Amino acid sequence: MAYTVPKLTDYSAAALERAAGECIAVCSRESASVRSDADLKAFRDRWMARKNGILTQINDLWLKGAPKEAKREAGIRVNDVKMAVADIIDKAEHIRLELSTAIGDAVDISLPGVRRPIGAEHPVVKTRNEIVSVFERLGYSVAEGPVVETDYYNFEALNFPPNHPARDAQDTPFIAGQQLKPQRERLLLRTHTSPVQIRTMEKMRPPIRIVIPGTVHRNDPPDASHSPMFHQIEGLAVDTNITFGDLKGTLDHAMKALFGSSVKTHFRPSFFPFTEPSAELYVTCFICGGSGKRGTDNAPCRPCKQTGWIEVLGCGMVDPNVFEFVKDNGYDPKKVSGFAFGMGSDLIFLLKYEVDDLQLFFQGDVRFLQQFS
Ligand SMILES: [Zn+2]
Repeated sequence: MAYTVPKLTDYSAAALERAAGECIAVCSRESASVRSDADLKAFRDRWMARKNGILTQINDLWLKGAPKEAKREAGIRVNDVKMAVADIIDKAEHIRLELSTAIGDAVDISLPGVRRPIGAEHPVVKTRNEIVSVFERLGYSVAEGPVVETDYYNFEALNFPPNHPARDAQDTPFIAGQQLKPQRERLLLRTHTSPVQIRTMEKMRPPIRIVIPGTVHRNDPPDASHSPMFHQIEGLAVDTNITFGDLKGTLDHAMKALFGSSVKTHFRPSFFPFTEPSAELYVTCFICGGSGKRGTDNAPCRPCKQTGWIEVLGCGMVDPNVFEFVKDNGYDPKKVSGFAFGMGSDLIFLLKYEVDDLQLFFQGDVRFLQQFS
């Protein structure tokens, strides 16, 4: 039944409040049944019309009709109703406007379409995909693992015993509040993608060939060549009779695929706790072609520091001590051998495109990123 404004006989505060509340509720209910512009007009007129609209009636019946001592309270309540009704009508108009605009948009096929810019791969992702696809073509599959790691996977199982000095060099960001746990269970942000080697060997029996792309963290303040977060790609091949010759052949092929068939590779002895022997891989500078000089004026080549060689990754034969941790899953160091390598994929991109500031990749400036899309 349609609402009619009641005449009040009781002007107590409670009675006024009840009457005002009921009136607002009715208005709100009626607004929900507005379906068309005509409905909206009728609704607005019923409540707001100067002559005989519901608000006018309330003013007349509740305020003008109130005894002197109740005028103040009645005035407050009438005002409440007016404000609430204005608000409800405002909302109803807004909804109506939005709906009619949406319908207009939906049917006007004569307007030109909205051209949305198509996104492109971020340089970091693009480089990762390029490197990964080189190894996929060699039969490698992709493995991934958690960024928050335990001390065991990040260090211990990779042949960094507790108190090993190489742990310092990693500048590890540890998760707070881990002191009560045994050391091997303490959580940290992984400092390399190598824990995934162990995790994969725990799950898969040999032979395996995997590449592991991922985000890693070090406690380095950001500057042109350092970032507390960066990206690595790591590889692992384990089988019977894998030799250093396989390592050299695989990486030589990969470098030519990445940097062009004319690059030469060069291995220099190095040290990593989880490989023995270990090496750093250098490629001939693809900027100056290995001469150390650039252009007709023989300017010094910066990327290779005029040496003609650029270090791109670390590698080596998997240390038998590492296999001991997964021996029960078929990795008996007397029966299997393997090689591993790891590179900073952001670094590869910096080198390839001669970008001189690593931070540019992580600042999200589209003007910079667009150049590589
Ligand atoms: Zn150079």
